[in-house]
Amino acid sequence: MSSSVRVVARIRPLLKQELDKDTIVTTESTDGENTGNSTVVRIPNPKNDAESFSFQFNSVYEQHTTQQQIFDNEVSPTVKHLFNGFDVTIFAYGVTGTGKTHTMRGGKTLADRGVIPRLLSSIYRRCRKIEKDTAGATQVEVAMSYYEIYCDRVYDLFEPPEKRTPSGLPIRDNNGKTVVVGLMEKPCTTLKEFEHLYDQANINRSTSATKLNAHSSRSHAILCVKVTQTTETTVQVSRASAIDLAGSEDNRRTDNNKERLVESASINKSLFVLAQCVEAISKKQSRIPYRESKMTRILSLGQNNGLTLMILNLAPVRSYHLDTLSSLNFANRTKKIEVCEVENEPEFRTMVKPLAATTSISGANITRQPLRPL
Ligand code: ADP
Ligand code: MG
Repeated sequence: MSSSVRVVARIRPLLKQELDKDTIVTTESTDGENTGNSTVVRIPNPKNDAESFSFQFNSVYEQHTTQQQIFDNEVSPTVKHLFNGFDVTIFAYGVTGTGKTHTMRGGKTLADRGVIPRLLSSIYRRCRKIEKDTAGATQVEVAMSYYEIYCDRVYDLFEPPEKRTPSGLPIRDNNGKTVVVGLMEKPCTTLKEFEHLYDQANINRSTSATKLNAHSSRSHAILCVKVTQTTETTVQVSRASAIDLAGSEDNRRTDNNKERLVESASINKSLFVLAQCVEAISKKQSRIPYRESKMTRILSLGQNNGLTLMILNLAPVRSYHLDTLSSLNFANRTKKIEVCEVENEPEFRTMVKPLAATTSISGANITRQPLRPL
């Protein structure tokens, strides 16, 4: 078995204030039909409405998809992998406002809970089952660390913002593994305990963002859950990491003061390296450039038969058009793109038209894009 990656897209519903807006992102299954089992996202070319781009994913989740469905289809299968001793890494990627935090953390109600609380709930259930099935011969311990990376500096989210060192925590190599020196790791034995720690840390996240005069959308928040299974003779450690990434929008377009440029440069670099790692893993390349950014290095992304899930969050409305295309191009580093030209006959726009030309090209030779590369 080797490291593997899944890239899926999730389109959020229209928000209240968007109900009268144009939906420009559509979905279809691989064979072009709309059968409800979507794998393709289609979006108009912003430069030419008569043309559209389509992007293939492992799966595409439409607007009405529930938190439960995302968890059951994508995350639940990874728990077995984790308990078999392998690392699992789950990213939410996308522009600010597309649903990353909703997907990872979610809302307060049971139905609204996101990937992270559901993952923990599932981990604790499995712990209890293992301990019961082995009559206590296997002990399982769960501990977590939670940190953010802002401008390439690592901050512990269990630390109140006033106690932070502005330069962040150092990272060091220790027997081939990268560790964050001084990062707290808190044992937590129940879901209730987890929720308490996680909520407190999220308050630290937003207050520290205010102190740094930065918005939390400009940092990556990384929750790491360490699972240790101990028997009389063996100790097996594996980690599940869940990451709410910094917004992928290009701040240079809207806000070009010096601080924003530094932020943008570090966000772009880390997202670029992430895309390269995801591509290398999906192509089963032997060299994965995970050492080239702090985040992928700390995560050891793509090492040790790890499993990576990338959820690409998308907003369906036109105001996100360029950013959505840029997000889709990001994921396309691993996916095939199909460029379809449709006839430009505005008077028949509501009719289904035959495709005038369909060209399949791989990510490396795209001719009419990207409009805004990372
Ligand atoms: P991001 O973290 O990417 O900036 P958020 O998760 O904060 O985006 O989502 C932006 C807004 O959209 C929030 O008000 C959130 O509640 C809402 N939202 C996002 N995804 C969904 C969804 N699948 N269903 C309902 N509301 C959603
Ligand atoms: Mg967010």
